[in-house]
Amino acid sequence: MAARESMEYDVVVVGAGPSGLAAAIRLKQLAAEKGREVSVCVLEKGSEVGAHILSGAVLEPRALEELFPDWQARDAPLITPAQEDRFLFLTARSAWRLPTPPQMHNTGNYIISLGNLCRWLASQAEALGVEIYAGFAAAEVLYSEDGSVRGVATGDLGIGHDGRPTDRYQAGMELHARQTIFAEGCRGSLTKRLFERFDLRAGIDPQTYGIGIKELWEVQATRHQPGLVVHTVGWPLTPGTYGGSFVYHLEDNQVAVGFVIGLDYRNPYLSPFEEFQRFKTHPAIRPTFEQARRISYGARALSEGGFQSIPKLSFPGGLLVGDAAGFLNVPKIKGTHTAMKSGMIAAEAVFEHLASGSGAEVSGYPERLRRSWVHEELYRVRNIRPSFRWGLFGAIAYSALDTYVLRGRAPWTLRNHADHTQLRKVSESSPIHYPKPDGTVSFDRLSSVFISNTNHEEDQLSHLRLKDPSVPIHVNLELYDAPEQRYCPAGVYEIVRDAGGHNPRLQINAQNCVHCKTCDIKDPTQNIDWVVPEGGGGPNYPNM
Ligand SMILES: Cc1cc2nc3c(=O)[nH]c(=O)nc-3n(C[C@H](O)[C@H](O)[C@H](O)COP(=O)(O)OP(=O)(O)OC[C@H]3O[C@@H](n4cnc5c(N)ncnc54)[C@H](O)[C@@H]3O)c2cc1C
Ligand code: SF4
Repeated sequence: MAARESMEYDVVVVGAGPSGLAAAIRLKQLAAEKGREVSVCVLEKGSEVGAHILSGAVLEPRALEELFPDWQARDAPLITPAQEDRFLFLTARSAWRLPTPPQMHNTGNYIISLGNLCRWLASQAEALGVEIYAGFAAAEVLYSEDGSVRGVATGDLGIGHDGRPTDRYQAGMELHARQTIFAEGCRGSLTKRLFERFDLRAGIDPQTYGIGIKELWEVQATRHQPGLVVHTVGWPLTPGTYGGSFVYHLEDNQVAVGFVIGLDYRNPYLSPFEEFQRFKTHPAIRPTFEQARRISYGARALSEGGFQSIPKLSFPGGLLVGDAAGFLNVPKIKGTHTAMKSGMIAAEAVFEHLASGSGAEVSGYPERLRRSWVHEELYRVRNIRPSFRWGLFGAIAYSALDTYVLRGRAPWTLRNHADHTQLRKVSESSPIHYPKPDGTVSFDRLSSVFISNTNHEEDQLSHLRLKDPSVPIHVNLELYDAPEQRYCPAGVYEIVRDAGGHNPRLQINAQNCVHCKTCDIKDPTQNIDWVVPEGGGGPNYPNM
C-alpha cells in the first residue's frame, strides 16, 4: 500500500453540517477582524455539502443572526416564516387539538431545508477562504507521540470487499492540524472512538437517541398552507413509547413530513418505518398527501439525552461541537441553533488558544459554553425528555409542572439510560401487525430508499462491522426476533434462510445504508460498529 501524503492546517473540521460550517466561518471571521492568518479545512463524507443532511426543519435563527447579522442581504435560504402552530393528540380515528407547549411556539422561526442552509453556509465559508473537501470521509483519528490528537486521515479508496487493493486503489490523505473540531453530528463514528480514548463520558449519563424518518412531498396547492407547523403525539404509538410526528409546509407546495421515535422503545416487534407509514393514513393527515408526489425519503438519528448527557467537550488537540456532543433541545425538537452556536463558541476559544500557543487542550471552550445561552437553554428543559419514562400522560403532567411552576429550576435532575439496554425479549412482547402499504400515501422500504438516491461503491469492505458474527442469529434472532430487520429504515438487514426455511443467516445489504446510525445505537449487545464507507457513498439528499 502506498504511503499517505499529508497536508497541514491550523484547524481541521470533520463534518460540513451546521455546527462544523459555523465553526469554520467564525474562525475565518475572527482571523479577518484581527488581521491574522488561520488555515481551516472542512471534510464532508457526503458527495457534496448537504447530501447527508436531513432535518425537519424549523430553524430558530438566533445563532445565524449572531453569525451573519445581514443574513437576509446575503440571500440565506430562509424563505418561509412559521405562521401557525398546531399540536394534535391522535387516536386511531380522531385528532384533538391541544394547547401548544411554550417550547414549541415558532413565532420568529423559519421552515427551511437544512441541506440548503448548509449549502449556503458552505458558499459563505468558501468566500472567507475555508477549504471544503466533500466526498472525503474522515476514517481515522491521528495522534501525536504525546497522545494528543494530531488530525485525521481520510479512508483509502479502492480496497475491495476481500480487503485487497483494487485497480481503483488510492491511499487516504493525512490532514494534520493544531486543533481538530469534530462536528460529525449524532453518533459520530470518530467521536465514538474519542469518547473511549479520552474517557469523555466519565461521570455523565449515557447519551440517548431517537430515530427520525422523513419524506418530502409536493402536494396540491389547495392542501398547502405555507408556514403551517403541525406536531402530533399519540396514535399510532402506544402511550409507553416516546415519539410523534412533524408536518411542515414550506414554499412551492412542498410539505416535509416525518416521525421521530425514541430509541428507548421496548417492543422488539416495533418498526419505526412502518409506524411512520401508518401515521400518514390517519384521517386527519391523509388528505394532505392525496394526489400528491413524494419527492424524497431519508432517516437520521437525533441526540436526545440533553444536558445530563453532554460529555467532556475538549481534549488534547480536539473539541466536540453540535450533535456529536449532543446539544439538541428535545422539547423544542431543535438542534440546529445550538449546534451552530456551539461551533461558534468553539471557534472563538480555538482562535484565542492558537494565539496564546498554550498547551494542547482548548480548555476555554467548555467554560465559554457554560456561560452561553446554549447551557441555560438545555439546563432548563433537562427533565422533560426523561419524564417520558412515566408514559405520555405522565410526561405531559410532569412537563406542565416543570415548565409552568418550577420554570426548569427543579432541584432534581432525572437520569438517562442507554437505549440498547431497553429492548424486551420477544417472550415478553406482543407482535405488532402493520397494514400493507397502499402505494398512495404509504410505501415499502425499498421504493423509499430508491428516492433517497443512496449509492455506495459495491466493491469495498462493508462499513457495517459485526464484532461477533454469531450474535445476529444466536442472540438477536433467538431473543429479539432480529430487531435490526425492523429498526433499520433502509432494509439493510435481512434474515435469509435456505429453500427449506432452515439455516437462518444475516444478510447485510450495506449499499442501501442511509447513514442514520440507528443500528450502531440500538443493537442490544452493541455488536454492530458503523464505520465510514468510501467517501461520497451514502444518500444524495436534494433538499432534506
Ligand atoms: C428528523 C429530524 C428532524 C429534526 N428537526 C429539526 C428542526 O425542525 N429544527 C432544528 O433546529 N433541528 C432539527 N433537528 C436536529 C438538527 O438537524 C441537528 O441538531 C443538526 O443537524 C445538528 O447539526 P450538526 O452539524 O451537529 O450535525 P449534522 O447536521 O448531522 O451534520 C454532520 C455532518 O458531518 C458529516 N460527517 C459525519 N461524520 C463524518 C466523517 N467521519 N467524515 C466526514 N464527514 C462526516 C455528515 O455527513 C454531515 O454532513 C432534526 C433532526 C432530525 C434527524
Ligand atoms: S444500516 Fe444502520 S445506519 Fe444504515 S440505514 Fe440501516 S440502521 Fe441506518
